[in-house]
Amino acid sequence: MTLPPFDLHPVESVDEARELLLRYGEDAAVICGGTELLLLLKLGYAGYGHLVDIRGIEELRGIRLEEEALVIGAAATHREIERSPLVAERLPALAEMERHVANIRVRNVGSLGGNLCFSDPHSDPATFLLALDAEAEWTGGRTPLADFLVGPYETALQPGQLLRAIRIPVPGDDVRVVHRKLAFHERPAATVTCAVRVRDNSVTQARIAVGSVGTRAVRATAAERRLAGVSLDDAAALTEAAELAADASEAVEDANGSVEYKLQLVRVLVERCFREAIADRSCCSRAPGSVRTRD
Ligand SMILES: Cc1cc2nc3c(=O)[nH]c(=O)nc-3n(C[C@H](O)[C@H](O)[C@H](O)COP(=O)(O)OP(=O)(O)OC[C@H]3O[C@@H](n4cnc5c(N)ncnc54)[C@H](O)[C@@H]3O)c2cc1C
Repeated sequence: MTLPPFDLHPVESVDEARELLLRYGEDAAVICGGTELLLLLKLGYAGYGHLVDIRGIEELRGIRLEEEALVIGAAATHREIERSPLVAERLPALAEMERHVANIRVRNVGSLGGNLCFSDPHSDPATFLLALDAEAEWTGGRTPLADFLVGPYETALQPGQLLRAIRIPVPGDDVRVVHRKLAFHERPAATVTCAVRVRDNSVTQARIAVGSVGTRAVRATAAERRLAGVSLDDAAALTEAAELAADASEAVEDANGSVEYKLQLVRVLVERCFREAIADRSCCSRAPGSVRTRD
């Protein structure tokens, strides 16, 4: 595999990047860590004469707290998020999810923005962020992530536009967030995130996202409704919710398995995720989240 020649344009501002992207049109692409893009170029699946390197844009890099939301710059790497003291304090489940993305080499250079803009259906962050009602801040405005991720390998970005940041509302102290996945190859085969609020002995709110089994990550809203208000020991409700989540998952057959197999993965992961979320009654979103790469 040989990398074809291209001009690399390191830029320091969003305006500069946009100007270059518009000038070169279809012959230009944004590059951040390059872990997806350079592979595409090497394999000959894409070809660009100009790559606009956004890693030097300061405003795309930081991680900050704004009005009880974590705002993560699009160029922040998985590793930076995993190791951020602010993330560790306010949303450790996010750090824990990031710790299990790819391998250390990919996490060191690969960015959250690159993961989302590539819109590979097999994504940990897409599932996790969907469950937490995250928003995408991009040069076209601010959009719920569910609308930004249009479909497989497709986002709301138009030519010349960039993702600036991801805004994640920090869940309350009484919410426990758990993300779990199964992976047989490099990318996850199934991902589930549950964010559960518990009061006394019952569930007051459940948010569930399912991803990697179909062409996009989805919210399992019928499953969320089934669990709202149930007592913690209502096993039948959980089984029904897991079934509803499987129904919502839009699973498709691929190299990871058949539709029926994927549906079973979703049922099992939803049950495990939810049980883990309610297991520690002293828990909250600030308690460590949990991820398994292989079960
Ligand atoms: C071996 C391997 C294992 C992996 N395992 C996992 C896994 O377990 N879980 C998982 O979720 N992911 C996994 N991934 C995917 C990984 O998370 C992504 O490769 C990485 O996050 C992409 O970031 P990047 O900065 O390298 O993107 P790049 O390759 O630089 O860009 C990717 C795409 O996004 C566009 N882009 C990048 N940033 C922006 C921006 N700010 N605005 C507009 N467009 C932009 C680029 O033009 C390009 O089309 C894996 C990848 C590899 C190579």
